Amino acid sequence: MPTVPATLLIVDDEAQVRKLLQVLLQNQGYRTLTASSGEEALAIVEQQSPDLILLDIMMPGMDGYEVASTLKTDKATSDIPIIMLSALDERSARLTGLEAGAEEYLSKPVESAELWLRVRNLLRLKASGDYLKSHNMMLEKLLLQRTLDLERFRSAMDASADAVFLISRSSMSLIEFNLSACMVLGYTPDELLHVGLAELGDSSIEQLEELYDLIIAGDGPREPIEARVRCKNGSHVPVEVHRRAYKTGDDWIIVCIARDITHSKDSELRLLKMARYDTLTGLPNRNLFYTSLQVGLTEAVYSGWQLAVVTVSLDDFKLVNETWGHLISDQMLVELGQRLSSCLNVTDTLGRMDGDEFALILMIREGQADIQRLVDNIRQVLRAPCQLDGHDVLMSASMGIALYPGDGEQAHDLIKHANTAMNRAKQVGRDTFRFYTSQMNIEALARLEIETALREAVRTQAFELFYQPKISLSDGRVCGLEALIRWHRTGYANVPPAIFVPILENLGLISDVGKWVIDNVCAQIARWQRSGVAPLQVAVNVSGRQIMEGDLIADIQQAIRDSGIEPFWLEVELTEGSLMENTALTIASLQKLRAIGVKISIDDFGTGYSSLAYLRRFPIDKLKIDIAFIREVTSNPQDAAIARTIIELARGLSLQVIAEGIETPEQLAFLIANGCDQGQGYLFSRPLPLDELETLLREQRHFI
Ligand code: C2E
Ligand code: MG
Ligand code: MG
Repeated sequence: MPTVPATLLIVDDEAQVRKLLQVLLQNQGYRTLTASSGEEALAIVEQQSPDLILLDIMMPGMDGYEVASTLKTDKATSDIPIIMLSALDERSARLTGLEAGAEEYLSKPVESAELWLRVRNLLRLKASGDYLKSHNMMLEKLLLQRTLDLERFRSAMDASADAVFLISRSSMSLIEFNLSACMVLGYTPDELLHVGLAELGDSSIEQLEELYDLIIAGDGPREPIEARVRCKNGSHVPVEVHRRAYKTGDDWIIVCIARDITHSKDSELRLLKMARYDTLTGLPNRNLFYTSLQVGLTEAVYSGWQLAVVTVSLDDFKLVNETWGHLISDQMLVELGQRLSSCLNVTDTLGRMDGDEFALILMIREGQADIQRLVDNIRQVLRAPCQLDGHDVLMSASMGIALYPGDGEQAHDLIKHANTAMNRAKQVGRDTFRFYTSQMNIEALARLEIETALREAVRTQAFELFYQPKISLSDGRVCGLEALIRWHRTGYANVPPAIFVPILENLGLISDVGKWVIDNVCAQIARWQRSGVAPLQVAVNVSGRQIMEGDLIADIQQAIRDSGIEPFWLEVELTEGSLMENTALTIASLQKLRAIGVKISIDDFGTGYSSLAYLRRFPIDKLKIDIAFIREVTSNPQDAAIARTIIELARGLSLQVIAEGIETPEQLAFLIANGCDQGQGYLFSRPLPLDELETLLREQRHFI
């Protein structure tokens, strides 16, 4: 039922009747409009389109019959239900009313219960009619959209000179193909739709099923394979086939692109085909790269993916050539090719375009973030020194990026634009990249700038540790500290760690910085113990990357050894999200930490979707309820329920539990009432620089 009250139009020449009906209907919560003549009624309907009309028959001027038939013959108003009202209780009057199109008839004086009943029933009928109508309209729109999509896709397919087939893995039948497919095989589209797959080539259905499953699993052939297709007249055509699999709903679609290579079968053209690979690196050369890009673009149209063309050129290659000679610089190119190909996914392609120029085709599923990651990855891979003839040679490259469809839809446009971008990158110096589109450059440049500044900060150790007290909720005393990193970027306000920590992670620098944090914290704990400041457990935040890329355990052992502290004074906070990233390795590392005696706490708990089963497998000491649940814990019952559940969960697993982000006395009261062990937040203290923290500790304050 609609939530807005229905609007009813009362049409009667007698003011008293109008008033009576108005009162009766408003009583039931309806909105009413009134008209004293047929003409006025039509004018109101046109402007306000009421949900139902109560229409008197006998009126001076235009009578009720005329009004009803005018409304019912107009498409815009024919759906509005009409109840005819009249003192005439004759059969003929009713019939004329119904013939004029009215849905119901009521005699005057109107009986209130009957009026309500009729009005309600008619409104219900109309509402369900309206719903059906809008549902139908939506279906029609969807159908139209889908037809347009299909047409667009079809015309893209038909523009290809290669035969393109789409095959459903579940039914093992052709579901789409392009005009070239019909032309190569000699079938009409209607005929081809009914030809079985086994009839089209030399493989049986079972063999094809096996091949398709390999492709779906990502283990299919990477290079195009040569095969034969069988034409309608029984002759065979040699083809080079390229297959890919895409998931749609529950089914997989195999996209099969077959290129007629009849002509390349003679030896002269065979040579030409050999000329598709670069002899030095074995990579596709410019020609084959171009063809692969066209195939990639067809796939991108079909799958709705983005595609990026990245051109890569070694910096100062001329200098390398002059310094080391041809032999060594050739080795360098081979090495570069290998490193670049280690960055590719199965669906990507790498080619050598010319001299020191390489190019990549990247199929992008998740938008630009993916590309940024890939570019970072490529730059990082290239930075490792190259061992040439017993020397460590450093190499770096400049890159240009053009995106389909934003920067162009044709292969040659994309390559041209990527080259333009690469040349711009070269102009500004080495080891950098540019997007063809300027907006992306603005974002990328800001990142490059922050990256450079961060590298410098790591070199000069321009970081500082702040400490935030943790308060025991049973006695209100400081019972521990959390070390939080701060970066003083020259010329800028403080950059929050939520921004620069992920960049450090991306740059592969988090382990270095993490080690600095651990060393500092352990040394500080030792200093406090020596100077008699109450011994406190100090937590450091650790990124999952430190486990996966660095050697967290060795760093911690070293720091404990160097500082001479007992391991249990150090606590490690790992976010729930990073725990779930590489569980086997994480569990093993945490067990080692446990064995050393370091305490382990899960940060931001409640946001990382870890299952209970996992939780029991991790050797942990403490859960930290994420700030997101604390923020509205006193006003949002769901957050309150989550916070309570986490506290109970911790108790059930014999773990300690702490809440972060406590800002108000009400939040504190809630947490105390629900048995939370510890708390941390601005209510007690912000994270403080060392000297301010020491002043606070000396006060030995009770916070509750
Ligand atoms: P986190 O470990 O969950 O740290 C808690 C964050 O909440 C800190 O932000 C802290 O200043 C802030 N906070 C504390 N009490 C309150 C409060 O009452 N209200 C509000 N609104 N915020 C409060 P910060 O220092 O900006 O750190 C953000 C995140 O950066 C940390 O979240 C942690 O994940 C990461 N981080 C900080 N230092 C390090 C570090 O040395 N290494 C690594 N890997 N990550 C770090
Ligand atoms: Mg933390
Ligand atoms: Mg947290």
